[in-house]
Amino acid sequence: MQLNGNPYLDPQTALEHLKTYPHRDGLSVRDLMDSVRHGGLAYNDFLLLPGKIDFPASEVLTESRITRNVVLKTPFVSSPMDTVTEGQMAISMALLGGIGVIHHNQTPEAQAAMVRAVKRHENGFITEPVVLSPSHLVEDVLDIKARLGFCGIPITDTGSLGGKLLGIVTARDIQFRSTNTKLSDVMTTSLVTARQGITLKEANDILRDSKKGKLPIIDQEGRLVSLLARSDLLKNQSYPLASKNPESKQLYAAAAIGTRPSDRERLALLVEAGLDIIVLDSSQGNSVYQVDMIHHIKSTHPHLDVIAGNVVTREQAATLIAAGADGLRVGMGSGSICITQEVMAVGRPQATAVFAVAEFANKFGVPVIADGGVSNVGHIVKALALGAGAVMMGGLLAGTEEAPGEYFYHEGKRVKAYRGMGSLEAMEQGKQSKPAAGVSKYPDPRKSNTFENAATSRYFSESSVIKVAQGVSGDVQDKGSVKAFLPYLHVGVQHSLQDIGVRSVAELQTGVDHGDVRFELRTASAQVEGGVHGLNSYTKRLFA
Ligand code: GDP
Ligand code: 5GP
Repeated sequence: MQLNGNPYLDPQTALEHLKTYPHRDGLSVRDLMDSVRHGGLAYNDFLLLPGKIDFPASEVLTESRITRNVVLKTPFVSSPMDTVTEGQMAISMALLGGIGVIHHNQTPEAQAAMVRAVKRHENGFITEPVVLSPSHLVEDVLDIKARLGFCGIPITDTGSLGGKLLGIVTARDIQFRSTNTKLSDVMTTSLVTARQGITLKEANDILRDSKKGKLPIIDQEGRLVSLLARSDLLKNQSYPLASKNPESKQLYAAAAIGTRPSDRERLALLVEAGLDIIVLDSSQGNSVYQVDMIHHIKSTHPHLDVIAGNVVTREQAATLIAAGADGLRVGMGSGSICITQEVMAVGRPQATAVFAVAEFANKFGVPVIADGGVSNVGHIVKALALGAGAVMMGGLLAGTEEAPGEYFYHEGKRVKAYRGMGSLEAMEQGKQSKPAAGVSKYPDPRKSNTFENAATSRYFSESSVIKVAQGVSGDVQDKGSVKAFLPYLHVGVQHSLQDIGVRSVAELQTGVDHGDVRFELRTASAQVEGGVHGLNSYTKRLFA
């Protein structure tokens, strides 16, 4: 309505007016992709337009599906690279709501030991607790402590699960005792126990009230059935987002393998260690080897979720979906250490690859993981907006305390090594020699036997005399602990989704599908404008 002599519309009708306004801001995702029909987009080539904020960022849910059967509370995956994910990273990623994929550039035994460590880290009922007998010695407990990290050990007459419970040995029982003292002399025998059949909640209540560190669960005859640890109550409280199996309450474990015959044996060891998700690690996943491996896994270990890849086209994806993949890893040549596009002349800009594959795979209920090229929170949100269930990160997580390797100084900066799995350095990772036998009852699995080089198998399906590098080797700056960095990424994603005006990843993806969440292309000068510019010098601190 126009007022007398006033050329303007009534401000109160602005929202009404918008509904019939002939122009709409931004582009739908389809128009965004079509706008470069003859080219591909990288994450930096576009932005999302802001929506309306009518909820706090802390309410934004980042829950997302990474395979047909696994939903994570945060969409973060660490890459199976030997400078990124070993046991410590995998445990921390899972505690913080993501998942770490343990690399296979090591012996199968070492990799399986890392999977086992992840599965042992947190529990509901510990159904296979380590048990000793009264005639074992304090040194046996110390050995377990050194190897597995705990020393609350139930003592049974047989020294194994199912034996009659006689006592329990804890850290304090063995303090100040000589290593050859028998456990019968130090164990605590006044025990609070609970009966088999009790629910986890009831058992937790008893444990909480008893003020004890452990609660052994016994059957009618007093035989040990399982164990509960007080520290698990604390972990549950400290890590509310943790990625856990809903029944066992154990952390999810994921690991990578190749597609060579020897990988079938590796797989068997990983499964025995409790693996939940297997990642088939190949730079070009559309191969008969990968299809054969998926069939093999589905027939021998049907409970295991298989993430296949890497792929960047719908055609590649279709082969792996038809073969039975439960998830797909998307990316070729976008990784920060990667020279594939330069050397092989194949690959695809990552945003286009993620959109193309996710749009296709999601129709079959197969989630995709956007792998590589993620160097900030914005890239994560863009990958999710294009349909990814999660992002896989290498460089962004390398350089954290939990990444393998030691810090060193390079040009005055504290750094850790980060290298491509297709770098010559990773491909030449030595075949290792057998250890001297009998040194320990629990030999360090890293030092046992040899393994087929995983980095080579990721990049070449056949052995070649000449190795062609597809990655570089370098270093990245110290990023502190993942325990501070991942929460930063999580809160960052929540704030970004709040700006977009959506309350969850699911709402973001539906909004994109319906054309309500809008995009805009970024010209080269828009990219300059959107970065820090015009300063003489500055410090870039990302979170506090
Ligand atoms: P402890 O007091 O030295 O036994 O160690 P804590 O109770 O602080 O930590 C034990 C952690 O290891 C818990 O999170 C358990 O779930 C986990 N864990 C996994 N397997 C076992 C096991 O066989 N025995 C014990 N005691 N803990 C285990
Ligand atoms: P980033 O997060 O550092 O950008 O990328 C990590 C991803 O790069 C990995 O998950 C993996 O898919 C890929 N990648 C790892 N090593 C290499 C390599 O040597 N060459 C290539 N082309 N890609 C690699």
